[in-house]
Amino acid sequence: MDFRLSPEEEAFRQEVRDWLKENLPKDWSGDRFTRDRDPETWNIYREFAGKLAAKKWVAPAWPVEYGGLGLSVIQQLIFNEEMAYHQAPLGYSIMGVGWAGPTIIVYGTEEQKQKHLGAITNAETMWCQGFSEPNAGSDLASLQTRAVRDGDDYVINGQKIWTSGAHLSDWCILLARTDPEATKHKGISYFLLDMKTPGVTVRPLIDMMDNHAFNEMFFDNVRVPKDCLLGDENRGWYMAATTLDFERSSIGGAVGGRRMVEELVAYARETKRNGKRLSEEVTVRVRLADAALEVEIGRMLSYRVASMQQRGLVPNYESSIAKLFNTDMQFRLAKAGLEIMGLYGQLEPQSKYAPLRGKFERQYLWQTGMIVGGGTPEIQRNIIAMRGLGLPRQ
Ligand SMILES: Cc1cc2nc3c(=O)[nH]c(=O)nc-3n(C[C@H](O)[C@H](O)[C@H](O)COP(=O)(O)OP(=O)(O)OC[C@H]3O[C@@H](n4cnc5c(N)ncnc54)[C@H](O)[C@@H]3O)c2cc1C
Repeated sequence: MDFRLSPEEEAFRQEVRDWLKENLPKDWSGDRFTRDRDPETWNIYREFAGKLAAKKWVAPAWPVEYGGLGLSVIQQLIFNEEMAYHQAPLGYSIMGVGWAGPTIIVYGTEEQKQKHLGAITNAETMWCQGFSEPNAGSDLASLQTRAVRDGDDYVINGQKIWTSGAHLSDWCILLARTDPEATKHKGISYFLLDMKTPGVTVRPLIDMMDNHAFNEMFFDNVRVPKDCLLGDENRGWYMAATTLDFERSSIGGAVGGRRMVEELVAYARETKRNGKRLSEEVTVRVRLADAALEVEIGRMLSYRVASMQQRGLVPNYESSIAKLFNTDMQFRLAKAGLEIMGLYGQLEPQSKYAPLRGKFERQYLWQTGMIVGGGTPEIQRNIIAMRGLGLPRQ
Protein backbone atom coordinates (compact mmCIF):
# COMPACT_ATOMS: atom_id res chain seq x y z
CA MET A 1 0.00 0.00 0.00
CA ASP A 2 1.33 3.42 -0.94
CA PHE A 3 0.54 6.00 1.75
CA ARG A 4 2.11 8.93 -0.10
CA LEU A 5 -0.17 11.79 -1.06
CA SER A 6 -0.27 13.27 -4.56
CA PRO A 7 1.30 16.76 -5.07
CA GLU A 8 -2.23 18.22 -5.30
CA GLU A 9 -3.18 16.60 -1.99
CA GLU A 10 0.01 17.88 -0.34
CA ALA A 11 -0.80 21.36 -1.67
CA PHE A 12 -4.28 21.11 -0.19
CA ARG A 13 -2.80 20.14 3.20
CA GLN A 14 -0.60 23.23 3.07
CA GLU A 15 -3.58 25.40 2.12
CA VAL A 16 -5.53 24.16 5.17
CA ARG A 17 -2.51 24.73 7.45
CA ASP A 18 -2.01 28.27 6.14
CA TRP A 19 -5.68 29.05 6.55
CA LEU A 20 -5.70 27.75 10.12
CA LYS A 21 -2.70 29.91 10.99
CA GLU A 22 -4.73 32.96 9.96
CA ASN A 23 -8.14 31.93 11.27
CA LEU A 24 -7.80 30.03 14.53
CA PRO A 25 -9.16 32.15 17.39
CA LYS A 26 -6.59 34.31 19.12
CA ASP A 27 -4.93 32.55 22.08
CA TRP A 28 -6.78 29.32 21.26
CA SER A 29 -4.90 26.60 23.11
CA GLY A 30 -7.28 23.85 22.00
CA ASP A 31 -8.09 22.87 25.58
CA ARG A 32 -11.71 22.22 24.79
CA PHE A 33 -11.90 19.63 27.55
CA THR A 34 -11.48 22.32 30.15
CA ARG A 35 -14.42 24.43 29.04
CA ASP A 36 -16.24 22.38 26.49
CA ARG A 37 -19.69 23.86 26.45
CA ASP A 38 -19.70 27.07 28.42
CA PRO A 39 -21.30 30.03 26.58
CA GLU A 40 -17.96 31.69 25.85
CA THR A 41 -16.61 28.57 24.18
CA TRP A 42 -19.80 28.17 22.20
CA ASN A 43 -19.40 31.67 20.84
CA ILE A 44 -15.90 30.68 19.74
CA TYR A 45 -17.33 27.58 18.03
CA ARG A 46 -20.00 29.65 16.30
CA GLU A 47 -17.57 32.27 15.07
CA PHE A 48 -15.15 29.64 13.75
CA ALA A 49 -18.02 27.78 12.04
CA GLY A 50 -18.97 31.06 10.32
CA LYS A 51 -15.42 31.41 8.96
CA LEU A 52 -15.49 27.83 7.71
CA ALA A 53 -18.89 28.44 6.09
CA ALA A 54 -17.57 31.47 4.22
CA LYS A 55 -14.88 29.21 2.73
CA LYS A 56 -17.38 26.36 2.09
CA TRP A 57 -15.32 24.25 4.48
CA VAL A 58 -18.01 23.23 6.98
CA ALA A 59 -18.57 20.01 5.03
CA PRO A 60 -16.08 20.25 2.15
CA ALA A 61 -16.69 16.71 0.86
CA TRP A 62 -20.44 17.25 0.40
CA PRO A 63 -21.80 17.83 -3.11
CA VAL A 64 -21.57 21.41 -4.37
CA GLU A 65 -25.39 21.75 -4.59
CA TYR A 66 -25.63 21.21 -0.82
CA GLY A 67 -22.97 23.74 0.11
CA GLY A 68 -19.86 21.53 -0.06
CA LEU A 69 -16.98 21.54 -2.51
CA GLY A 70 -17.26 17.90 -3.59
CA LEU A 71 -13.76 17.13 -2.27
CA SER A 72 -12.48 13.57 -2.39
CA VAL A 73 -12.50 11.31 0.66
CA ILE A 74 -8.71 11.67 0.91
CA GLN A 75 -8.93 15.47 0.84
CA GLN A 76 -11.59 15.25 3.55
CA LEU A 77 -9.20 13.05 5.55
CA ILE A 78 -6.40 15.59 5.17
CA PHE A 79 -8.80 18.34 6.21
CA ASN A 80 -9.93 16.37 9.29
CA GLU A 81 -6.34 15.60 10.23
CA GLU A 82 -5.29 19.24 10.10
CA MET A 83 -8.36 20.33 12.10
CA ALA A 84 -7.63 17.64 14.71
CA TYR A 85 -3.90 18.36 14.88
CA HIS A 86 -4.56 22.07 15.42
CA GLN A 87 -7.38 21.20 17.84
CA ALA A 88 -9.66 23.52 15.91
CA PRO A 89 -12.93 24.54 17.64
CA LEU A 90 -15.34 22.39 15.61
CA GLY A 91 -17.77 21.61 18.43
CA TYR A 92 -20.60 23.53 16.83
CA SER A 93 -21.03 21.41 13.76
CA ILE A 94 -19.90 17.88 14.48
CA MET A 95 -23.22 16.00 14.60
CA GLY A 96 -24.84 17.86 11.72
CA VAL A 97 -21.84 17.52 9.44
CA GLY A 98 -20.69 14.10 10.56
CA TRP A 99 -23.87 12.14 11.16
CA ALA A 100 -27.22 13.85 10.48
CA GLY A 101 -26.26 15.45 7.15
CA PRO A 102 -24.71 12.35 5.55
CA THR A 103 -27.78 10.28 6.54
CA ILE A 104 -30.09 12.93 5.02
CA ILE A 105 -27.97 12.88 1.84
CA VAL A 106 -28.51 9.11 1.56
CA TYR A 107 -32.20 8.85 2.57
CA GLY A 108 -33.75 12.34 2.48
CA THR A 109 -36.34 13.66 0.00
CA GLU A 110 -35.21 16.54 -2.21
CA GLU A 111 -37.28 18.86 0.02
CA GLN A 112 -35.53 17.63 3.19
CA LYS A 113 -32.12 18.02 1.54
CA GLN A 114 -32.94 21.59 0.48
CA LYS A 115 -34.26 22.47 3.92
CA HIS A 116 -31.45 21.02 6.04
CA LEU A 117 -28.18 20.58 4.17
CA GLY A 118 -27.64 24.22 3.21
CA ALA A 119 -28.44 25.29 6.78
CA ILE A 120 -25.77 22.89 8.07
CA THR A 121 -23.10 24.01 5.61
CA ASN A 122 -23.94 27.66 6.36
CA ALA A 123 -23.38 26.86 10.06
CA GLU A 124 -26.92 28.02 10.84
CA THR A 125 -28.16 24.90 12.58
CA MET A 126 -26.83 22.52 15.18
CA TRP A 127 -28.01 18.91 15.53
CA CYS A 128 -28.20 16.36 18.30
CA GLN A 129 -28.79 12.62 18.24
CA GLY A 130 -31.82 11.21 20.11
CA PHE A 131 -31.15 7.48 19.93
CA SER A 132 -30.32 6.12 23.43
CA GLU A 133 -32.97 5.59 26.10
CA PRO A 134 -32.71 4.54 29.76
CA ASN A 135 -33.28 0.90 28.74
CA ALA A 136 -31.94 1.01 25.20
CA GLY A 137 -28.22 1.73 24.73
CA SER A 138 -26.21 -1.19 23.35
CA ASP A 139 -29.51 -2.88 22.63
CA LEU A 140 -30.81 0.18 20.80
CA ALA A 141 -33.57 -1.73 19.01
CA SER A 142 -35.39 -2.08 22.35
CA LEU A 143 -36.24 1.63 22.32
CA GLN A 144 -39.73 2.50 23.60
CA THR A 145 -40.33 6.13 22.55
CA ARG A 146 -43.55 6.00 20.53
CA ALA A 147 -44.62 7.94 17.44
CA VAL A 148 -48.30 7.46 16.54
CA ARG A 149 -49.70 8.60 13.20
CA ASP A 150 -52.59 11.06 13.57
CA GLY A 151 -53.85 12.44 10.24
CA ASP A 152 -50.97 14.33 8.61
CA ASP A 153 -48.94 14.34 11.83
CA TYR A 154 -47.13 12.02 14.18
CA VAL A 155 -47.54 12.39 17.95
CA ILE A 156 -44.40 11.47 19.93
CA ASN A 157 -44.21 10.40 23.59
CA GLY A 158 -41.26 9.00 25.52
CA GLN A 159 -37.76 9.71 26.83
CA LYS A 160 -34.19 9.84 25.55
CA ILE A 161 -30.95 10.01 27.54
CA TRP A 162 -27.27 10.99 27.08
CA THR A 163 -28.26 13.39 24.28
CA SER A 164 -25.06 15.38 23.73
CA GLY A 165 -25.62 19.07 23.05
CA ALA A 166 -29.46 18.82 23.09
CA HIS A 167 -29.64 22.03 25.14
CA LEU A 168 -27.91 23.93 22.34
CA SER A 169 -29.40 22.18 19.31
CA ASP A 170 -31.92 23.34 16.75
CA TRP A 171 -32.72 19.90 15.31
CA CYS A 172 -32.55 16.29 16.42
CA ILE A 173 -32.25 12.97 14.59
CA LEU A 174 -34.75 10.93 16.56
CA LEU A 175 -35.64 7.24 16.58
CA ALA A 176 -39.16 6.26 17.68
CA ARG A 177 -41.28 3.13 17.51
CA THR A 178 -44.09 3.38 14.97
CA ASP A 179 -45.17 -0.28 14.95
CA PRO A 180 -45.21 -1.88 18.42
CA GLU A 181 -46.53 -5.16 16.97
CA ALA A 182 -43.57 -5.72 14.62
CA THR A 183 -40.34 -7.46 15.71
CA LYS A 184 -38.16 -4.94 17.50
CA HIS A 185 -35.86 -3.97 14.59
CA LYS A 186 -38.75 -3.57 12.16
CA GLY A 187 -41.09 -1.15 13.93
CA ILE A 188 -38.74 1.83 14.26
CA SER A 189 -38.86 5.09 12.26
CA TYR A 190 -36.33 7.90 11.86
CA PHE A 191 -37.49 11.51 12.40
CA LEU A 192 -35.97 14.95 11.89
CA LEU A 193 -37.33 16.85 14.89
CA ASP A 194 -37.38 20.61 15.38
CA MET A 195 -36.20 21.05 18.98
CA LYS A 196 -38.52 24.05 19.44
CA THR A 197 -41.64 21.90 18.96
CA PRO A 198 -44.01 22.25 21.97
CA GLY A 199 -43.79 19.28 24.37
CA VAL A 200 -40.00 18.79 24.07
CA THR A 201 -38.25 19.19 27.45
CA VAL A 202 -34.47 19.07 27.83
CA ARG A 203 -32.92 18.50 31.28
CA PRO A 204 -29.20 18.70 31.99
CA LEU A 205 -27.01 15.76 33.04
CA ILE A 206 -23.76 16.95 34.60
CA ASP A 207 -20.78 14.71 33.88
CA MET A 208 -17.81 13.87 36.12
CA MET A 209 -15.85 16.80 34.68
CA ASP A 210 -18.60 19.05 36.02
CA ASN A 211 -19.57 19.81 32.43
CA HIS A 212 -23.06 20.14 31.06
CA ALA A 213 -22.51 18.23 27.83
CA PHE A 214 -25.35 15.75 27.71
CA ASN A 215 -29.01 15.71 28.68
CA GLU A 216 -32.23 13.83 29.17
CA MET A 217 -35.02 14.63 26.70
CA PHE A 218 -38.71 14.14 27.36
CA PHE A 219 -41.49 14.11 24.75
CA ASP A 220 -44.99 14.90 25.89
CA ASN A 221 -47.50 14.70 23.00
CA VAL A 222 -45.01 16.26 20.60
CA ARG A 223 -46.85 16.79 17.32
CA VAL A 224 -44.71 16.84 14.15
CA PRO A 225 -45.81 16.95 10.50
CA LYS A 226 -45.35 13.75 8.51
CA ASP A 227 -42.66 15.32 6.32
CA CYS A 228 -40.37 15.04 9.38
CA LEU A 229 -40.14 11.32 8.68
CA LEU A 230 -36.85 10.37 7.02
CA GLY A 231 -37.17 7.54 4.50
CA ASP A 232 -39.96 4.98 4.84
CA GLU A 233 -41.97 4.37 7.99
CA ASN A 234 -40.66 1.40 10.01
CA ARG A 235 -37.29 1.38 8.13
CA GLY A 236 -35.56 3.58 10.73
CA TRP A 237 -33.33 0.84 12.10
CA TYR A 238 -31.46 0.49 8.81
CA MET A 239 -30.99 4.24 8.49
CA ALA A 240 -29.75 4.40 12.10
CA ALA A 241 -27.12 1.79 11.16
CA THR A 242 -25.93 4.15 8.41
CA THR A 243 -25.71 7.02 10.92
CA LEU A 244 -23.68 4.83 13.32
CA ASP A 245 -21.31 3.79 10.52
CA PHE A 246 -20.69 7.48 9.80
CA GLU A 247 -20.23 8.14 13.53
CA ARG A 248 -17.72 5.35 14.02
CA SER A 249 -15.70 6.11 10.91
CA SER A 250 -15.01 9.70 12.03
CA ILE A 251 -11.33 10.28 11.43
CA GLY A 252 -9.01 12.62 13.25
CA GLY A 253 -8.68 11.14 16.74
CA ALA A 254 -5.34 9.55 15.97
CA VAL A 255 -3.87 12.82 14.76
CA GLY A 256 -5.20 14.68 17.80
CA GLY A 257 -3.29 12.00 19.73
CA ARG A 258 -0.09 12.78 17.84
CA ARG A 259 -0.30 16.38 18.97
CA MET A 260 -0.67 15.22 22.57
CA VAL A 261 2.37 12.91 22.26
CA GLU A 262 4.39 15.88 20.98
CA GLU A 263 3.28 17.97 23.95
CA LEU A 264 4.16 15.16 26.33
CA VAL A 265 7.59 14.70 24.77
CA ALA A 266 8.26 18.44 25.14
CA TYR A 267 7.10 18.27 28.77
CA ALA A 268 9.41 15.29 29.48
CA ARG A 269 12.36 17.16 27.97
CA GLU A 270 11.74 20.29 30.03
CA THR A 271 10.76 18.82 33.39
CA LYS A 272 13.24 17.69 36.05
CA ARG A 273 12.46 15.27 38.87
CA ASN A 274 15.12 14.41 41.48
CA GLY A 275 17.72 16.36 39.52
CA LYS A 276 17.14 14.41 36.33
CA ARG A 277 15.12 15.23 33.22
CA LEU A 278 12.04 13.01 32.80
CA SER A 279 13.17 12.31 29.25
CA GLU A 280 16.24 10.52 30.65
CA GLU A 281 14.13 8.06 32.67
CA VAL A 282 13.89 4.68 30.96
CA THR A 283 10.28 4.06 31.98
CA VAL A 284 9.22 7.48 30.65
CA ARG A 285 11.03 6.93 27.35
CA VAL A 286 9.36 3.54 26.90
CA ARG A 287 5.87 5.00 27.60
CA LEU A 288 6.47 7.81 25.13
CA ALA A 289 7.77 5.47 22.42
CA ASP A 290 4.76 3.17 22.92
CA ALA A 291 2.39 6.13 22.71
CA ALA A 292 4.02 7.37 19.48
CA LEU A 293 3.71 3.89 17.99
CA GLU A 294 0.07 3.52 18.95
CA VAL A 295 -0.82 6.89 17.45
CA GLU A 296 0.66 5.76 14.12
CA ILE A 297 -1.26 2.47 14.24
CA GLY A 298 -4.48 4.39 14.92
CA ARG A 299 -3.76 6.60 11.96
CA MET A 300 -3.26 3.62 9.65
CA LEU A 301 -6.55 2.08 10.79
CA SER A 302 -8.31 5.36 9.98
CA TYR A 303 -6.61 5.47 6.57
CA ARG A 304 -7.99 2.02 5.86
CA VAL A 305 -11.54 3.28 6.46
CA ALA A 306 -10.94 6.34 4.28
CA SER A 307 -9.38 4.33 1.45
CA MET A 308 -12.44 2.03 1.42
CA GLN A 309 -14.76 5.03 1.25
CA GLN A 310 -12.66 6.46 -1.56
CA ARG A 311 -13.22 3.25 -3.54
CA GLY A 312 -16.98 3.44 -2.98
CA LEU A 313 -17.01 0.61 -0.42
CA VAL A 314 -18.98 0.85 2.84
CA PRO A 315 -16.70 0.22 5.84
CA ASN A 316 -18.37 -1.73 8.59
CA TYR A 317 -16.26 -3.82 10.99
CA GLU A 318 -13.30 -1.76 9.74
CA SER A 319 -14.93 1.35 11.30
CA SER A 320 -15.44 -0.62 14.52
CA ILE A 321 -11.74 -1.57 14.59
CA ALA A 322 -10.70 2.07 14.08
CA LYS A 323 -13.22 3.33 16.69
CA LEU A 324 -12.25 0.70 19.26
CA PHE A 325 -8.51 1.17 18.83
CA ASN A 326 -8.48 4.97 18.59
CA THR A 327 -10.68 5.71 21.60
CA ASP A 328 -8.81 3.17 23.72
CA MET A 329 -5.46 4.46 22.46
CA GLN A 330 -6.36 8.02 23.43
CA PHE A 331 -7.37 6.82 26.88
CA ARG A 332 -4.04 4.98 27.31
CA LEU A 333 -2.22 8.07 26.08
CA ALA A 334 -3.96 10.24 28.68
CA LYS A 335 -3.12 7.66 31.36
CA ALA A 336 0.52 7.60 30.25
CA GLY A 337 0.56 11.40 30.60
CA LEU A 338 -0.85 11.25 34.13
CA GLU A 339 1.68 8.62 35.16
CA ILE A 340 4.61 10.56 33.71
CA MET A 341 3.46 13.71 35.52
CA GLY A 342 3.12 11.87 38.82
CA LEU A 343 0.76 13.39 41.39
CA TYR A 344 0.80 16.73 39.56
CA GLY A 345 -1.02 14.99 36.70
CA GLN A 346 -4.18 14.71 38.79
CA LEU A 347 -4.53 18.47 39.26
CA GLU A 348 -7.47 20.15 37.57
CA PRO A 349 -6.89 22.94 35.02
CA GLN A 350 -7.79 25.62 37.57
CA SER A 351 -4.65 24.80 39.59
CA LYS A 352 -1.57 26.88 38.78
CA TYR A 353 0.50 23.73 39.40
CA ALA A 354 -1.36 21.64 36.80
CA PRO A 355 1.13 20.55 34.09
CA LEU A 356 0.15 21.39 30.49
CA ARG A 357 -2.84 23.36 31.79
CA GLY A 358 -4.43 20.16 33.14
CA LYS A 359 -5.04 18.91 29.63
CA PHE A 360 -4.13 15.29 30.33
CA GLU A 361 -6.30 15.12 33.42
CA ARG A 362 -9.25 16.41 31.36
CA GLN A 363 -8.43 14.07 28.50
CA TYR A 364 -8.33 11.11 30.91
CA LEU A 365 -11.86 11.84 32.15
CA TRP A 366 -13.19 12.79 28.71
CA GLN A 367 -11.92 9.64 27.01
CA THR A 368 -13.67 7.45 29.57
CA GLY A 369 -16.91 8.66 27.98
CA MET A 370 -15.62 8.60 24.41
CA ILE A 371 -14.87 4.88 24.74
CA VAL A 372 -18.58 4.29 25.48
CA GLY A 373 -20.25 6.88 23.18
CA GLY A 374 -21.01 5.51 19.70
CA GLY A 375 -21.03 1.94 21.03
CA THR A 376 -19.10 0.29 23.88
CA PRO A 377 -15.88 -1.74 23.35
CA GLU A 378 -17.82 -4.99 23.89
CA ILE A 379 -20.26 -4.05 21.14
CA GLN A 380 -17.42 -3.13 18.74
CA ARG A 381 -15.70 -6.44 19.56
CA ASN A 382 -18.93 -8.33 18.84
CA ILE A 383 -19.16 -6.61 15.43
CA ILE A 384 -15.53 -7.43 14.65
CA ALA A 385 -16.02 -11.06 15.77
CA MET A 386 -19.18 -11.58 13.72
CA ARG A 387 -18.63 -9.52 10.59
CA GLY A 388 -14.83 -9.47 10.50
CA LEU A 389 -13.98 -12.96 11.71
CA GLY A 390 -17.21 -14.68 10.68
CA LEU A 391 -17.84 -16.04 14.18
CA PRO A 392 -21.44 -17.01 15.01
CA ARG A 393 -23.85 -14.59 16.74
CA GLN A 394 -24.01 -15.23 20.51
C1 LIG B 1 -19.89 10.79 26.20
C2 LIG B 1 -21.14 10.14 25.69
C3 LIG B 1 -21.91 10.80 24.77
C4 LIG B 1 -23.09 10.20 24.31
N1 LIG B 1 -23.88 10.89 23.42
C5 LIG B 1 -25.02 10.33 22.97
C6 LIG B 1 -25.86 11.06 22.07
O1 LIG B 1 -25.60 12.21 21.70
N2 LIG B 1 -27.01 10.48 21.66
C7 LIG B 1 -27.37 9.21 22.03
O2 LIG B 1 -28.40 8.73 21.58
N3 LIG B 1 -26.60 8.49 22.90
C8 LIG B 1 -25.44 9.03 23.37
N4 LIG B 1 -24.65 8.33 24.27
C9 LIG B 1 -25.12 7.03 24.75
C10 LIG B 1 -24.33 5.84 24.22
O3 LIG B 1 -24.64 5.57 22.88
C11 LIG B 1 -24.63 4.66 25.14
O4 LIG B 1 -24.10 4.98 26.42
C12 LIG B 1 -23.98 3.39 24.64
O5 LIG B 1 -24.59 2.94 23.46
C13 LIG B 1 -24.09 2.26 25.71
O6 LIG B 1 -25.38 2.12 26.17
P1 LIG B 1 -25.71 2.13 27.75
O7 LIG B 1 -25.07 3.33 28.35
O8 LIG B 1 -27.19 1.98 27.88
O9 LIG B 1 -24.99 0.85 28.33
P2 LIG B 1 -25.51 -0.65 28.28
O10 LIG B 1 -25.95 -0.96 26.90
O11 LIG B 1 -26.49 -0.85 29.38
O12 LIG B 1 -24.20 -1.45 28.59
C14 LIG B 1 -23.72 -1.72 29.91
C15 LIG B 1 -22.53 -2.67 29.79
O13 LIG B 1 -22.96 -3.95 29.24
C16 LIG B 1 -22.19 -4.28 28.11
N5 LIG B 1 -23.00 -4.96 27.09
C17 LIG B 1 -24.24 -4.61 26.68
N6 LIG B 1 -24.67 -5.46 25.72
C18 LIG B 1 -23.67 -6.35 25.50
C19 LIG B 1 -23.51 -7.46 24.62
N7 LIG B 1 -24.46 -7.79 23.74
N8 LIG B 1 -22.35 -8.16 24.67
C20 LIG B 1 -21.38 -7.82 25.55
N9 LIG B 1 -21.48 -6.78 26.42
C21 LIG B 1 -22.61 -6.05 26.39
C22 LIG B 1 -21.68 -2.94 27.56
O14 LIG B 1 -20.51 -3.11 26.78
C23 LIG B 1 -21.43 -2.16 28.85
O15 LIG B 1 -20.19 -2.48 29.39
C24 LIG B 1 -23.49 8.91 24.75
C25 LIG B 1 -22.69 8.25 25.70
C26 LIG B 1 -21.54 8.85 26.17
C27 LIG B 1 -20.72 8.10 27.17
